[in-house]
Amino acid sequence: MPISFRTQSPVLCFLAAVLLFGCSGGVKSSEYGAASADRSPNIVIIFADDLGYGDLGVYGHPTIRTPNLDRMASEGMKFTQFYAAASVCTPSRAGLMTGRLPIRSGMASDTRRVLFPDSRLGIPSEEITIAEALKDRGYATAAIGKWHLGHLPPFLPTNNGFDSFFGIPYSNDMDQVGKGTWREVFVDPKTENWNLPLMRNEEIIERPTDQNLLTKRYTEEAVGFIREHKAEPFFVYLAHSMVHVPLFRSEAFEDVSRRGLYGDVMEEIDWSVGQVMNALREEGLAENTLVFFTSDNGPWLVYETLGGSAGLLRGGKGMTWEGGMREPALAWWPGTIAAGQVSESVTSTMDFFPTALDLTGQKLATDRVYDGQSLLPILKGDTDLEIRDTYFYYRGATLYAVRKGPWKAHLITEWAYQKDTKRTVHVIPLLYNLEHDPSEQFDVAYDYPDVLADIAAEIEEHQSNMVARPTQLEAVIGK
Ligand code: MG
Repeated sequence: MPISFRTQSPVLCFLAAVLLFGCSGGVKSSEYGAASADRSPNIVIIFADDLGYGDLGVYGHPTIRTPNLDRMASEGMKFTQFYAAASVCTPSRAGLMTGRLPIRSGMASDTRRVLFPDSRLGIPSEEITIAEALKDRGYATAAIGKWHLGHLPPFLPTNNGFDSFFGIPYSNDMDQVGKGTWREVFVDPKTENWNLPLMRNEEIIERPTDQNLLTKRYTEEAVGFIREHKAEPFFVYLAHSMVHVPLFRSEAFEDVSRRGLYGDVMEEIDWSVGQVMNALREEGLAENTLVFFTSDNGPWLVYETLGGSAGLLRGGKGMTWEGGMREPALAWWPGTIAAGQVSESVTSTMDFFPTALDLTGQKLATDRVYDGQSLLPILKGDTDLEIRDTYFYYRGATLYAVRKGPWKAHLITEWAYQKDTKRTVHVIPLLYNLEHDPSEQFDVAYDYPDVLADIAAEIEEHQSNMVARPTQLEAVIGK
């Protein structure tokens, strides 16, 4: 019997509304409160770029060695169902910084999916960033690495809660000056083929910068900042430019990996994680510092071996298949997070903001909707606590898929970065059970009409309450 996706029973609708309302009211009260009466913990977020779910040793990659990340997992917590806020850089980063779906901050667009060097706008000043919230609590704050939330002064880190910024304002493949096919330019990349600026606060200090040295220099900056600010609470946002193509690594990491250039670059990022952890240990800060590691979106599959791997997940960067948004994620905080934990809870980069507030005894603002939840109860040992019932997968400003419990319904499917992206609007959504079928291979929509009706009610509730800010990504300089 055909299923009408729009058909909803009033009871289901009511239940869905109760569930959704109950989940969206902000941070649930945490019995843990602030972590320390003496001093709030330091927070370090290490954010890779375009790293796939299957690219770390601890997530099963056979030929990329990541001993430091593996150690983060063995001494801390590994997440298996952790999502980026979006499948491409700019909206993903906006979601992390604000704890809100990118569509709420206007950092999403169906036509210009990220910011470019000719973009005129960026993160709106009305948005509250993690750095602004922590700065209110006396934290020293540093943004190191790739920003990509606006390269003009009002949108740079130093005007959005960070004391300092050292890094690049947008992606490392922008400002390309070298000509040729991607194979000619990307397979053995030369740094002079990109006129990429390196910035210190609001000034360009080198252009083009030597991309071979980016990971190394970001690491030195982060370690220096940690040592310099060891006597006060600090927040470090270390957003690596790698492993986004074009791929670069310093001399010490040339030809070290069996996985080739991508593996070399990943192993340098792993080294960088080790340097940060060593600095925290050496300064006696390890037990008062929460370190997260994850990535902004999945692997860029069209670049073949220069892109990463989503492992057993379907799809990659730019897509709302799991491979585009589910990411490796590790949390490390010796003495607070027990060693060797695994969390299968549905969690997200949007949870970092409420977690940071929970750690510093702050409440979420009540004048806006948050999509994140505090991870503190999970980190403290309630490993599989379900902190959310639903997860919404947007591509640009359009809702493509919804997860509820183990179920994921695709309203629209589309591939990315190829001539024919095969965009399909599904009159009857595709339905997968992600726990039985994480690779999204077996559509069971016809077997579970009640699940589809339930998800339809969630969507109606979500969309009827959505207040989307006008997009900030389509305004171009001079136009
Ligand atoms: Mg990215």
